[in-house]
Amino acid sequence: MPSEAKGWGTDAADQPLKPMTFERRDLRGNDVAILISHAGICHSDLHTCRNDWKNSRYPVVPGHEIVGTVTAVGGDVTAHKVGDTVAVGCMVDSCMECQQCKDGWEIFCEKGMVGTYNGIDKQDGSLTKGGYSDHVVVRDHFVCRVPEGMDVTRVAPLLCAGITTFSPLRQYGVGEGTKVGVVGLGGLGHMGVKLAAAMGAHVTMITTTPSKGDDARELGAHDVILSTDADQMKAAASRFDFILNTIPVAHDITPYLQLLGRSGRMVLVGAIEPMPGFHTWNLLMMNRAVGGSAIGGMPETQAMLDFCAEKGIYPECEMIAMPQVNEAYERLLKNDVRYRFVIDMARGL
Ligand code: NAP
Ligand code: ZN
Repeated sequence: MPSEAKGWGTDAADQPLKPMTFERRDLRGNDVAILISHAGICHSDLHTCRNDWKNSRYPVVPGHEIVGTVTAVGGDVTAHKVGDTVAVGCMVDSCMECQQCKDGWEIFCEKGMVGTYNGIDKQDGSLTKGGYSDHVVVRDHFVCRVPEGMDVTRVAPLLCAGITTFSPLRQYGVGEGTKVGVVGLGGLGHMGVKLAAAMGAHVTMITTTPSKGDDARELGAHDVILSTDADQMKAAASRFDFILNTIPVAHDITPYLQLLGRSGRMVLVGAIEPMPGFHTWNLLMMNRAVGGSAIGGMPETQAMLDFCAEKGIYPECEMIAMPQVNEAYERLLKNDVRYRFVIDMARGL
């Protein structure tokens, strides 16, 4: 029998989120049913609610940083059992047959991965609905184990902010001796600082907000640059091997490109929209590269959780109750979050 879920979502780009009830499908053989305890609030949730990317399907019930407890499993599930603490990130399905899926890059599935919300279920054509809800039903392959002993109240943001920053840092070999700059101290950026520092890099926070400097150092940054200060930016020219840019809106990348040293690379993970052009001279000089990175695959997501468990790395979470979600969105837009809102379902839906 399908089950009734309670959650919060929105019917239109100009409407606030409100309580909603909707159906979760009956368990398929390879499905896991999860009672959600926590859901992180990603800037992407806000972009999707407000149709910033012009691809939103309503009602949008956001949430792709999900932690909870398994309440039931389908007959074919072997990796998870009732009572396990588990986590779900940005994807809930993919074809599992193409080369990308076989390589553990389900995010780039040749037939298209299915997003945790605002996606279309491959079997029944229904609109997927995310973690701002009491429970969820997810294909087993897309459910991660939360390692034993982790503080489950602080795990949720790892499932998007964590993996989106871990993946490029790992892909490009950030480690001992790498000089890393992280641009934007928000949900993604603060994980970027913590993870890069834990990997052994020398980390510099590059921020527009002077008051975040002390926080950045507490999070593990060794140095801080105020990007609005031309003198500080000039003094840092050609300093970095790798820059992780998390700015959530279109912007001129030139000032940041100029901070890269020889064969340095900047990876953009934030702005998902057309960007202003830049002069290729800034790439030619110093053999610089610019690229992007999308979340990460499932094996890498599990590796990230295991890494965080081993090193004791957690996001900084501001716990809220679900009815505070609209206020949290307004604060997110004003850069007023330190550094991830997490909805605690126990505080009431
Ligand atoms: P967030 O918490 O709002 O943080 C973004 C930070 O960027 C802010 O705290 C601010 O840091 C800085 N910033 C904001 N506006 C800026 C501007 N106009 N110019 C320069 N800096 C600015 O957002 P988030 O949750 O980390 O998400 C960041 C972006 O990543 C979003 O666009 C989201 O959709 C995207 N995202 C992408 C992926 C992916 O797969 N690539 C995955 C998840 C999210 P300072 O105050 O330090 O300057
Ligand atoms: Zn996200």
